[in-house]
Amino acid sequence: MSLQKPITYIKGVSLNKAALYYKELGIKTCNDLLHFFPFRYIDKTNFYAIKDLQINSSEVQVVGKITHIKSVTQKRGSRLVATFVDTSGTIELIWFKGQKWIKDSLKVNEPYVVYGKLNHYKGSFSIPHPEMELVSEYKKKLQPKMQPVYPSTEMLANKGISNKVTQTSMLHLFTEIYDGIQENLPDYLIKEHNLLNKKDALLNIHFPKSQELLAKASYRLKFEELFFIQLQLIQKKLIRKQKNKGFVFEQVGEHFNTFYTNYLPFSLTNAQKRVLKEVRKDVASNAHMNRLLQGDVGSGKTIVALLSMLLAIDNGFQTAIMAPTEILATQHYTGIIELLSEMDINVALLTGSTKVKKRREIHESLENGTLHILIGTHALLEDKVQFKNLGIAIIDEQHRFGVAQRSKLWLKNKIPPHILVMTATPIPRTLAMSVYGDLDISVIDELPPGRKEVKTVHRYDSNRLSVFKFMKDEVAKGRQVYVVYPLIQESEAMDYKDLKDGYESISREFPNPKYQISIVHGKMKPADKEFEMNRFVKGETQIMVATTVIEVGVNVPNASVMIIESAERFGLSQLHQLRGRVGRGADQSYCILLSSFKLSSEAKTRLKTMVETSDGFKIAEVDLKLRGPGNMMGTQQSGVLNLKIADVVKDTPILVKARNTAIELLQNDPSLSKPENTVLQKAFLELQKTSGLWGNIS
Ligand code: ADP
Ligand code: MG
Repeated sequence: MSLQKPITYIKGVSLNKAALYYKELGIKTCNDLLHFFPFRYIDKTNFYAIKDLQINSSEVQVVGKITHIKSVTQKRGSRLVATFVDTSGTIELIWFKGQKWIKDSLKVNEPYVVYGKLNHYKGSFSIPHPEMELVSEYKKKLQPKMQPVYPSTEMLANKGISNKVTQTSMLHLFTEIYDGIQENLPDYLIKEHNLLNKKDALLNIHFPKSQELLAKASYRLKFEELFFIQLQLIQKKLIRKQKNKGFVFEQVGEHFNTFYTNYLPFSLTNAQKRVLKEVRKDVASNAHMNRLLQGDVGSGKTIVALLSMLLAIDNGFQTAIMAPTEILATQHYTGIIELLSEMDINVALLTGSTKVKKRREIHESLENGTLHILIGTHALLEDKVQFKNLGIAIIDEQHRFGVAQRSKLWLKNKIPPHILVMTATPIPRTLAMSVYGDLDISVIDELPPGRKEVKTVHRYDSNRLSVFKFMKDEVAKGRQVYVVYPLIQESEAMDYKDLKDGYESISREFPNPKYQISIVHGKMKPADKEFEMNRFVKGETQIMVATTVIEVGVNVPNASVMIIESAERFGLSQLHQLRGRVGRGADQSYCILLSSFKLSSEAKTRLKTMVETSDGFKIAEVDLKLRGPGNMMGTQQSGVLNLKIADVVKDTPILVKARNTAIELLQNDPSLSKPENTVLQKAFLELQKTSGLWGNIS
């Protein structure tokens, strides 16, 4: 029977049932059902000695005798308790329902096989409502095996499609198709990685013969799943590199060298050097560069961008930097003209507020090629902005993904400029492999030397007075302070009240004219927002009270204190981004996380992580573990969310193996046309055709 046939071909699966399976679980074909995996197993193959029971053993099977039965009556009702022993220890069996009938049917001092969910309370174990069978009866029956438990829904349960029903359909399916299951990995890979073959893997994932075979089956299927995704991503990348030609920057020329030897204000960190090499290698080949540069806030991405641009200029090209906000674009502009002040390079700033006359000048110098570097907001993407020969575009996204989307406009050019997207949101390595596996990725994982770590503490609301005192001391030293309030859509009205109340209490504590306070939030007009932000940037105000709008990259080196109100309500990456606003100057900086006493365990973990580390990659790993890949930035269109059996968080070692295997394989045989890879080619084509099963990998 073909696996592509609908499940109604399976014995006992009616049209009605099939419709429900489809509606509730998306299962349509036999192949879908075959790859519908159990999420746990009832294991009756093992017998435990009572002394070996662990707090985390879930369902267990023990053999022993009841020595004693009693009824216990408490305020909340009565229960029947049987003391159950084997040669190693004692547990309790407990019933709340049907006590009289059960009491009459239990036999004291007769050997029983007992199975059930293990509870642990104050140092002792019990099994409520166990399944029980006299050993004499048990021995007469076939030995039970591990039974699969499948994911289900309320609707299925209500309509009588129990786990037993699904199990039975699965058994029927296996009887039909087992012989016809095709291997989809080449022999040599199976040998090399010591994998179970496909048939046995599928059989044992549904009906494991032992724990050991189950583990092997699960490994094989996870490997296969991750391997095919990686194969697809890496092939896509190879094809892109082959097909898309890019400008070649052959030489490292005068501008680059002059700047590097005379005007670079510091020596590059090793991470910066490495990334620069990666970029140079890309732009010196004739393939198009599409590179993602990840580096924590303050890791020094700008200088890498500037050096890459000089490389382009040396080869006769123009360059551009695009930033998400006007403030950021302006900061880049000021920073870069300062760095290049001694050099003969033309730089201009183009934003929404650039005056018409200036705008015309810019358009002209762009078209005649005399302008070397154009910095701006997405105003750069307007039709009127025509470069003579744009060689590289740098996109500074901070942590907002989206500008890169718009940059696709540039990619439409016959020969598109090289693209370097810079982001300050570190993505855990494993996730990056799965989500951006087809992009080139560079990482700056080292901060410039001498950077003082931001001292981070967690304080409760009740400590607010001492926090105010601390703020005053810092302001007295000439520092500036941020106070940030959460803004979460569902309770917007309340959030604004928090912000306003906070602003009022701070205004009382820090009275005008001695202190000047800025306030910035999302409900303000953009122009007012800019005005207030600028007052703070220029040092005219000492305190900035704001919602998270300040997250997106203002750089105020003199600000050395970040106070985050209701810190328990922020996500980890947001907290990390906010903290990144301070610690940019020479002074010791501080981050104070204020929270209420009531904290969920997740919130505790988040705050603890912030206090313990400032490494963005470590923080991102914790975030991934807490929230899963579905909530991580940028994963929404990727295959990692549709994984059937593997888990990008837990199965990292398998993922790394699968990726390396795919890379090596495609290096040796890019088109999968060698005889030993025929199986693979066939399976691969099949997978791409039947997109349903492995999800729509973008
Ligand atoms: P980000 O990666 O957040 O964009 P920037 O490029 O703005 O970081 O750099 C942050 C600060 O660190 C800047 O003031 C920059 O001049 C400085 N910096 C960058 N690289 C180095 C380095 N190798 N040594 C010392 N300071 C550096
Ligand atoms: Mg930056």
